[in-house]
Amino acid sequence: MVDHRALIVALDFDEMDHVLQLIDQLDPSMCRVKVGKQLFTRVGPQAVEQLVNRGFDVFLDLKFHDIPNTVAKAVTAAADLGVWMVNVHASGGASMMRAACDALAGRENKPLLTAVTVLTSMAESDLAEVGFHGAALGRVLDLAKLAENAGLDGVVCSAQEASELRKIVRPEFALVTPGIRLKGDAAGDQKRVVEPAAAVSAGADYLVMGRSITAAADPLGVVKRILLSLAPV
Ligand code: C5P
Repeated sequence: MVDHRALIVALDFDEMDHVLQLIDQLDPSMCRVKVGKQLFTRVGPQAVEQLVNRGFDVFLDLKFHDIPNTVAKAVTAAADLGVWMVNVHASGGASMMRAACDALAGRENKPLLTAVTVLTSMAESDLAEVGFHGAALGRVLDLAKLAENAGLDGVVCSAQEASELRKIVRPEFALVTPGIRLKGDAAGDQKRVVEPAAAVSAGADYLVMGRSITAAADPLGVVKRILLSLAPV
């Protein structure tokens, strides 16, 4: 079932002023928001705190990938900030993911813990350069199964892989899909891109969208168009 706030707006800005200009046009009832490495490294945890205080569900997208103890401490710090979702890299391994799960277990308002499978900016030629010679899909499916077995709540993947993933993971396992583009938008550095409604039909639960919204002349208009395209007919 699609969450009525399936849209996650990626707040990839350098300054909080720019974030607030956008956020002032949006409403926590229409979307969630994502704080990634750019905003977090520039502004720090207070960016998250301000968004949480304004009532937004925040996905803290720092894609942790480190030794199990460090990642466990990092996801705990994220949970203390009150985020709705936090993520790690599935390629960090099962023990790392289990350590992160254990660190969050039993917490009140536990954030969803998701794992990045293969970045949507990577095509098979990029995977080959880092030593993986095979189809991106196979790698995504294997990493998703590893994440599910380690106790995670979902994965970040391309919507191009969503329908195959849906066949092998439990129904409530969340599929979070960046690399979403409206018809006619520039793909930029994303390589495995899909349109919003097609992503949801393929089984995506959450759509991460950045530049299509943040670089638009009328971001609210774009958000409304996306939500309309996702509304059940
Ligand atoms: O601007 P665009 O829509 O491409 O933004 C996508 C966002 O999703 C960026 O913030 C990027 O860091 C993030 N992301 C991604 N691929 C992943 C995980 C996160 O593009 N696998």
